[in-house]
Amino acid sequence: WKNAPPTLGALIEFARGHGERVFTAHEQERVTYEAFYRAVAALAVELRKMGVEKGDRIALAMRNLPEWPVIFFAAASIGAIAVPLNAWWTGGELEYGLKDSGARILFIDGRRDERLLDHYDAVPGLEKIVVNRAKAPLGGKRVAFEALIGTPGEWAQLPDQPVPHADLAPDDDVVIFYTSGTTGSAKGALGTHRNMMTNIFSSAFVAARAVLRRGEMPQPPEPRVSLLVIPLFHVTACSAFLMGNVAAGGTVIFMRKWDPEQAMALIEREGVHMTGGVPTIAWQLIEHPARSRYDLSSLETIAYGGAPASPELARRIEEELGAAPGNGWGMTETMATVTQHSGEDYLNRPESCGPPVPVADLKIMDMDGVHELPLGEVGELWAKGPMIVKGYWNKPEATAETFVEGWVRTGDLARLDDEGFCYIVDRAKDIVIRGGENIYSSEVENVLYAHPAVTDAAVIGIPHHQLGEEPAAVVHLAPGMAASEGELQDWVKERLAAFKVPVAIRFIDTVLPRNANGKILKRELKALFDTEAAA
Ligand code: ATP
Ligand code: MG
Repeated sequence: WKNAPPTLGALIEFARGHGERVFTAHEQERVTYEAFYRAVAALAVELRKMGVEKGDRIALAMRNLPEWPVIFFAAASIGAIAVPLNAWWTGGELEYGLKDSGARILFIDGRRDERLLDHYDAVPGLEKIVVNRAKAPLGGKRVAFEALIGTPGEWAQLPDQPVPHADLAPDDDVVIFYTSGTTGSAKGALGTHRNMMTNIFSSAFVAARAVLRRGEMPQPPEPRVSLLVIPLFHVTACSAFLMGNVAAGGTVIFMRKWDPEQAMALIEREGVHMTGGVPTIAWQLIEHPARSRYDLSSLETIAYGGAPASPELARRIEEELGAAPGNGWGMTETMATVTQHSGEDYLNRPESCGPPVPVADLKIMDMDGVHELPLGEVGELWAKGPMIVKGYWNKPEATAETFVEGWVRTGDLARLDDEGFCYIVDRAKDIVIRGGENIYSSEVENVLYAHPAVTDAAVIGIPHHQLGEEPAAVVHLAPGMAASEGELQDWVKERLAAFKVPVAIRFIDTVLPRNANGKILKRELKALFDTEAAA
């Protein structure tokens, strides 16, 4: 990796070399790499004019739009810290993100701007609000994005000028990504250029290794067409998906909103090679009733991470979509992937999320974080490597608890096998402890998933005065399929120890509630049982 670009500033220079290849396609708007470069340069000049200095926070609250990567790279290349905020957040939550990060400038799309109109005054440090595709009249601090660098269709005509780089070092801070907030409130993970760049090299290495294993010589990567269906404000999409494409000269197709049928139409029309993000996406494509109406033969890879995938998924992707499945484990605190699993290896070990990438180390510790456990035992997963962030923004206590001598304590329960493959067993917070017996929610969920009538399932602990907790389940059945509570309990009883059988199973009409990262909101499901108990 000697000549590899060490910062995002160097990456944008490198990416200009992809020239007239299409970088992003969003509805009718196509942006080439050259146009992308010019837009980044023009916006970086504007940011400088606004007085942005190294280390200043520039927030971004926007759905996936072609403006998103332009803002991100413009901020990064002049040494500012980009703060992608969750576009699903309410006005109050966005206000929290702005205050927490201490943003000076906010880039926002018209929809979210409307949501925040009543909140701006509560964020005193905010100097300027740049709105693209505005819906409400502008004025005061609020200015039009289009007035700065025009619309995506106009970027190719922007002046040919270099990006005004700051003096950047690989260990400079470049981004604050918020965690998904699955187990508590969202925390800002402060990432460096090095943290983000590691993803690109890890993925390139894993791809080259797969080629070598087939007895072929790795060639420079052929640019691929990818369909982006997960939000850019999380690391999976931004660091793993977007950065890899920028490096390789890939084309990224944006979607207005996740819709499996529209996704299939886009795969057919654009000849998409790669998509994914979270396991739910793959399931919704596989199980879609209209799937046979679309030509999905261009698909080569469906890769995901971020949430547990049932072991059955890998085989279903291969058999029914004719694509290679991929799984990766990572967290916001690791700026994306730490393990990667694909192709044959994954089909042979579908319960695993893969081995660590070459520059990562994994170990399994006891829950007190004192002793390392022997191979094969389940304990807390700790990870180390150049992708791990230094800590949380503005949260010294949480940082001290989670980051220990270069290791991150993941809060995930896992085991490693003798070939180095990692198996995530559960989140420590999701484990159900019934009278001292540990029940991994994901083990019971996978058994429920395997029932032909079940398409979605979550297992949670509900309080019991003697046992402490008991397992309960919430399931969603496939349209037109039937299964009673007793039938599903018997199904689990035939396959797992009796103490793991959910004592109560509730059926809901929709797929289970998930956050923007595809994670089931178990806290909300618990509330469902509380309400029933109280009623
Ligand atoms: P918060 O930390 O705010 O509660 P979160 O942990 O859900 O939210 P993320 O950083 O987006 O926020 O998610 C990381 C978590 O996602 C991991 O700790 C793990 O539990 C889960 N995860 C990621 N990849 C995988 C995978 N391949 N298989 C199983 N679980 C995964
Ligand atoms: Mg977490």
